Amino acid sequence: MGTYNEIYLEMECPRCKQVGKQYIQLHFGDTRYLTELNIGDKYPWIERKSVQNGGRPENGDFEGEGYVECKNCKKDFFVKAIVRSDILKEIQVDKEKKPYIE
Ligand SMILES: [Zn+2]
Repeated sequence: MGTYNEIYLEMECPRCKQVGKQYIQLHFGDTRYLTELNIGDKYPWIERKSVQNGGRPENGDFEGEGYVECKNCKKDFFVKAIVRSDILKEIQVDKEKKPYIE
């Protein structure tokens, strides 16, 4: 899936229900520098690019896609990364999007 930013966050795995820290790959915005982010950080965008190509969305508000492979059960799931006014606010499990690993 190319380059991505990353956040290491405690969350409950929707597959095995284990609570623990997981590496979450964020596949949007400026992913060229593989930035390590935390909740509350300013999210990186690419200047003068469209949103589809990593540019800044209007007002810095965005719900981006993230991907996790659970350290415990080795199964995967998608998350939504909530960005408000350019700040990474929250990670929510995306229950709609089907994982790759059965
Ligand atoms: Zn799991």
